[in-house]
Amino acid sequence: MLDIRWKAALHIAAFGTISLFLWLVGGKVVALSFFTITLLFYIARQLYWLHILHLWLKHPSLDNVPVGSGIWEVVYDTLLKYERKNNEKQTQLNAALDRFNTTANAIPDGLIVLNASNEIEWCTANAEIHLDLNLPTDLKLPIVNLVRSSDFIAYLYNGIYEQPFRLELSRNAKLILEIRLITLPNQEKLLISRDVTQAEKLDGMRRDFIANVSHELRTPLTVVGGFIETLSDIEGAIPDNIRDYFDMMQEQTTRMRRLIDDLLTLSQIESNTHPPEDKPINMTSLINIMLSDAKALSRGKHVITTEILTDNDISGAADELQSALSNLISNAVRYTPEGGGINIIWQTRGDQAMFSVCDNGIGIEAQHMERLTERFYRVDRSRSRETGGTGLGLSIVKHILTRHQAKLEISSELGKGSQFSAIFPKSRLLRR
Ligand code: ADP
Repeated sequence: MLDIRWKAALHIAAFGTISLFLWLVGGKVVALSFFTITLLFYIARQLYWLHILHLWLKHPSLDNVPVGSGIWEVVYDTLLKYERKNNEKQTQLNAALDRFNTTANAIPDGLIVLNASNEIEWCTANAEIHLDLNLPTDLKLPIVNLVRSSDFIAYLYNGIYEQPFRLELSRNAKLILEIRLITLPNQEKLLISRDVTQAEKLDGMRRDFIANVSHELRTPLTVVGGFIETLSDIEGAIPDNIRDYFDMMQEQTTRMRRLIDDLLTLSQIESNTHPPEDKPINMTSLINIMLSDAKALSRGKHVITTEILTDNDISGAADELQSALSNLISNAVRYTPEGGGINIIWQTRGDQAMFSVCDNGIGIEAQHMERLTERFYRVDRSRSRETGGTGLGLSIVKHILTRHQAKLEISSELGKGSQFSAIFPKSRLLRR
């Protein structure tokens, strides 16, 4: 097909030639009349096709692209090609969108996109199941109108989404969801819901099993330990040649008792889904109590100092936090050779508070750092055992701190010493 410029040029040329011919044959009046009538007709024709184009643009579709004639044939032909391309792109886009939706719906987690006002923009089928939503009717509705849990609403508005939120829903059957929020550009959020009902049930069974076994073992062990102690105390009851065996039995029963106590503490903390007590804790007096405990444990073998650099206190469960923080101090005592120094520091770091225990003890190689808070993970088993360790201390510490939205930071250098710090968030800080 000819280019639109060529067509227009041809029209003008034909028009001009005929007018010139008529001027020569019929004179000026005939030529001018022809020129005027043809021009008017030409303009009317352009206006007609322009009108057709306008009508088509109102409801553009591939099925009803006008055919046109003259230069309009070129215009409509280009339009047809453009519309076809557009249609192809739209089909491809729809196919990609369908593929995306199918894939997103195949994900076992539920996904919801929330806009800046926390209204639902989009969600997957599993999110509808998890949170009892119906996308066609709930679209653009605020999520807080549909998930009516005050804790969830507080979590959503809090803006700190480092930790997932546990949402327990009681419908026909109990449903436990782990909710994660990720901030997207334009103040949008991606909410991910995961059904952890089964996992929590199994976890609960495991915890119950450990707690029951520990409870069951505790009584016979107390009896055995008691008899060993009584016999050891009775003059002449144990022949000298087996006294060493008796001491070893006593040592091992004490170790087992400590292990059982730690296992019970751990399962108790793990199974406690309620937030910890939220009472003010006077850090200066807590540090002083822990200092005298540490001195008793060290029996004068270490130089133990404290530095209280802030008058901020924190809120939380005093017994839990005392157990966690004194664990860090007792570890420092146990892993610092005689003559070493231990410094306990309480200070602020930015808008957070930091409790640190620094020692110049044996230190830890970098390769172990990641695993220190795992249950029963010990760098040196025999040293841990010798010093009365169970391998559960740091996992108890981590659990207690997590319950208080606090973090454990560890830095250490082999042969030089370690620093274990508990970092408390701004929300837990109290001004005295
Ligand atoms: P344990 O009862 O064995 O001390 P923990 O969970 O308290 O168990 O600590 C895990 C391991 O971390 C310890 O076995 C030890 O190897 C290491 N560790 C903890 N604290 C210190 C410290 N202050 N200095 C050196 N090593 C440490």
